[in-house]
Amino acid sequence: MTVTSDSPAPSDPGAPAFDKAALKRKYREERDKRLRADGNAQYIRLSGRFAHYLTDPYVPVAPREPKTDHVTFAFIGGGFAGLVTGARLVEAGIRDVRIVEKGGDFGGTWYWNRYPGAQCDTASMVYMPLLEETGHRPSEKYAHAPEILAQCQRIGRQFGLYDKALFHTVVESLAWDDAAKVWVIRTDRGDRFTASFLGLGTGPLHVPKLPGIPGIEDFEGHAFHTSRWDYAYTGGDPSGAAMDKLRDKRVGIIGTGATAVQCVPHLARSAGRLFVFQRTPSSVDVRANVPIDPAWFDEIATPGWQQRWLENFTANQTGAGPMVEDLVMDGWTDLSRRIRAKIGDLPRDQLTPQAMMAAFEDSDFEKMEEIRARADRVVQDPETARKLKAWYNQLCKRPCFHDAYLQAFNNPNVTLVDTDGKGVDRITAKGVVAGGQEYPLDCLIFASGFEVGTAFASRAGFDVEGRHGLRLSEHWAEGMRTKHGVHVHGFPNLFFVQPTQGANLISNVPHNLTEAGKTIALVVREALDRGAREVEVTAEAEQAWIDLLLTGPGRMMLGSQECTPGYYNNEGQDPGPAARLNVGYPAGAMAYFSYIDAWRRDGAFDGLTFR
Ligand code: NDP
Repeated sequence: MTVTSDSPAPSDPGAPAFDKAALKRKYREERDKRLRADGNAQYIRLSGRFAHYLTDPYVPVAPREPKTDHVTFAFIGGGFAGLVTGARLVEAGIRDVRIVEKGGDFGGTWYWNRYPGAQCDTASMVYMPLLEETGHRPSEKYAHAPEILAQCQRIGRQFGLYDKALFHTVVESLAWDDAAKVWVIRTDRGDRFTASFLGLGTGPLHVPKLPGIPGIEDFEGHAFHTSRWDYAYTGGDPSGAAMDKLRDKRVGIIGTGATAVQCVPHLARSAGRLFVFQRTPSSVDVRANVPIDPAWFDEIATPGWQQRWLENFTANQTGAGPMVEDLVMDGWTDLSRRIRAKIGDLPRDQLTPQAMMAAFEDSDFEKMEEIRARADRVVQDPETARKLKAWYNQLCKRPCFHDAYLQAFNNPNVTLVDTDGKGVDRITAKGVVAGGQEYPLDCLIFASGFEVGTAFASRAGFDVEGRHGLRLSEHWAEGMRTKHGVHVHGFPNLFFVQPTQGANLISNVPHNLTEAGKTIALVVREALDRGAREVEVTAEAEQAWIDLLLTGPGRMMLGSQECTPGYYNNEGQDPGPAARLNVGYPAGAMAYFSYIDAWRRDGAFDGLTFR
């Protein structure tokens, strides 16, 4: 493993202890500065006068005739969820699969997010789906976006998923026809086709949002959201070629989350001047990306390797079971290794829940102190370094890992405009005003993220109408209700592909998706083999699953109201009672994967009825 020059020094047992009480006070102060009553309502949708922000800059929309046919399986969403489910269905002999996707190709997140520097944050070996099935060897420990998009396309080609796919197509309604036992799918392209089975995998972060900054509509320069990168304006390309058209431009970027952390170094290299407008700094730890050595890969890639790696990652990341060798060794497994080591240091007779929580806390304080010290070490200007320090627990916000982001602030053309937690004052025709000063700009880039925490139907853009006209929004009015995060009572032949109420493994979402894909392919195969026209979870089985979920520890760190506001904690606002169901299997991800594997092997399809 390459050790970068800014890697932390090995921890020194004699290192001065930090003042926990002072840190907690500081964290709270910084959180309080950022709390605002409008929560999620501070953001605006890209509709109306902002609708042009959503135009696909990558692939032109091709005209086509509306579809009025029937398919065995329709899947809404052509990202990882649709691809892995489609692949498993095809493997199970169900080839009549139609994926409906709003983008112009497969890829989902990786179709839209082509900003320079985009790369996976979880190691490619476990993050990229179906590597073994496709025979693709990742080129780097953390692959860049073009390679991940190419993997999506490879899966699409290998499993014949392009044949029936509908791209640049937005679903408008989904309704169960109980007489015909089919789903009726209507889209914005005039389609009205039917499907025996329906899958939904629209992803959690697919609706870009803008900050509702006063005057945002007045800006007369060029502006775009990071998920619709305008290379025609900037020059360059998704593989990171220099954006030569920005050489004489004053560029501003609003937002310093995981997206900005990856694209700022590229902007810093290309822009005449770059102004990074910061409300809250990200925690940016060491990345240490390295190329994957083909000889090493050939050695480890024995049959079943990716499943073994996935399980190894989950075991190490979630800390379930005995310590096992960490094959993956990425930022996420490092995080949990540290916590486990800290807990492991406790004398056996002091292994109380309180002592374990305190050890967990200490490990976090230590890590964050290390990350803050890194800013001092890397950033030359002490004042800029100070402003780049994150004052919260590491999992309060999305942890970031990068070896060129902090360094970018050493470039003389880059200015960090820190707003001390307040956000920029306003946007004018000419630029951005922060701290009372106007920064004239040619181009303003919104790295302001995606809608999270809103109701499913609002994000998806459609409701789902099940048996007897029951709407999913009604069924889920008091929170999500499923069995396994997949099956919903009242919605026969419908399957969700997403992590919540299943493993809920947020550090490696694709693992959740591939497992759901396996389950769905098995259930559909069974229905077809039995000649059943319907498969549905019973009301009792759904309720039993909900009851089981509610025995768990709840939302833990990611939902903590103690945290700095962000999408992990509903912008610091009470998420309401429905959020108590946004949880995973009580015994954790590892236990869920074992459970679901046993459920599938058992063959009894416990909880489902086939009619
Ligand atoms: P985020 O929601 O994480 O970040 C939005 C940024 O905009 C925040 O820094 C936010 O500040 C800032 N902001 C919002 N309003 C204002 C305002 N009025 N003034 C100034 N700043 C403002 O979006 P991202 O696109 O960065 O990331 C979203 C998620 O996508 C990530 O958390 C991650 O899950 C995923 N992602 C994954 C990647 C990977 O795996 N490789 C790479 C990139 C993204 P504040 O923090 O104060 O709210």
